[in-house]
Amino acid sequence: MNEEQNNQKSVEEYKKEYTQRLINRANKKFAEKKTEPVPEQKSFIEKAKSFASSVASRGLSNNKSSQETKQLRILSCHGDNTEALPPCGSRRNSSKYEGSFYCGACGCGDKKGTQLVNLTVNGEEQYCKLDYPKVSCPLKMPGFTDYVPDSEQSHNSRKKEIENRHGVVYITEHSNPK
Ligand code: SF4
Repeated sequence: MNEEQNNQKSVEEYKKEYTQRLINRANKKFAEKKTEPVPEQKSFIEKAKSFASSVASRGLSNNKSSQETKQLRILSCHGDNTEALPPCGSRRNSSKYEGSFYCGACGCGDKKGTQLVNLTVNGEEQYCKLDYPKVSCPLKMPGFTDYVPDSEQSHNSRKKEIENRHGVVYITEHSNPK
């Protein structure tokens, strides 16, 4: 084999490897897309009912979810800065409140009362979405009133991670307050 043939071979190999890399990347993207959890789409009436239920649970005396429930919701929305539990893909940066977030999947928008963190306004800590004793999540994540355990059909790796840490029984108990 002369030098030219050798060079020719390495170009062919390079092309083959490059093509294989493109295929692997496309497969990876497809797999990620397939397992990405899909938020539930509610009708206008269902959203109104859900909001009314949250407001009723808050009552006139600003009732709040328990610490355990809120902690589960914090993990569900914000994660914990680890690779296994990054922030929820539906979490959005607030454009109105610096450093705050809102849920981009529930349709409530970026408002003071829908923030996923407790804002401080004029030195006073504000009530946030995660404080409502009853509040739903489009992905039915741990801590939310409509929590549903992960399953083969609705594989959600973030939900699974929280379930592995706390157990479905504990999560169910703290997601559906009486
Ligand atoms: S409420 Fe649910 S869907 Fe929305 S950011 Fe939190 S975990 Fe994600």
